[in-house]
Amino acid sequence: MKPSILVAEDEGALVTLLRYNLEREGYRVLAAQDGEEALLVAAEEKPDLVLLDWMLPQLSGIEVCRRLRGRQETRNVPIIMLTARGEESDRIRGLDTGADDYLTKPFSMTELLARLRAVLRRIRPSLAEDVVAVGDIEMDRAAHRVRRAGKEVHLGPTEYKLLEHLIQHPGRVFSREQLLDAVWGSDVYVEARTVDVHVGRLRKALNIEGVNDPIRTVRSAGYALEDNVVAG
Ligand code: CA
Repeated sequence: MKPSILVAEDEGALVTLLRYNLEREGYRVLAAQDGEEALLVAAEEKPDLVLLDWMLPQLSGIEVCRRLRGRQETRNVPIIMLTARGEESDRIRGLDTGADDYLTKPFSMTELLARLRAVLRRIRPSLAEDVVAVGDIEMDRAAHRVRRAGKEVHLGPTEYKLLEHLIQHPGRVFSREQLLDAVWGSDVYVEARTVDVHVGRLRKALNIEGVNDPIRTVRSAGYALEDNVVAG
């Protein structure tokens, strides 16, 4: 899954430039032209990062930032503020409101991409890299391959997506509903027990030696990928 970036910016030429450069770097780009739209797209699409213009129509970037931080589903999304104003007080206000970083226009694409990678790496390390490893499980998202203890693991598309989600948050317990949202999307109707079926398949595929199950079932809570599992 490519990391998705929401570009909340009303200058069309800048949006085009950002889209071109971000897509070339392998990101999926979502766009919003004003503050209201930015909140809507952020809530619906749950982007991995938001590039947020300070001066937006409808709602200012600062207000958007504040509201994103105030909502459960977008509370932790990394935010980089973009602004034409380079005053120190604005910078501090932006960071106070909960932005993770700040860029003053005009900025170079090289700098923007570097900052973006740095924020993603800091906040969601697994998003910035093609290869993610947890314990002896290794997932290469560029090659679409999974290995456990060096041995190739063959997964169906749903099991692959499940693992991709779990491996980004090792140790964390996800409810069936959260996994449904993350893997199937919130607009698809799937029964909760479907999650159990696919987790069962993933578990079986990963448990190559039949001795060490990396997926923990938390009764009445959900599932987690153990963060320190080694086969055998
Ligand atoms: Ca603007």
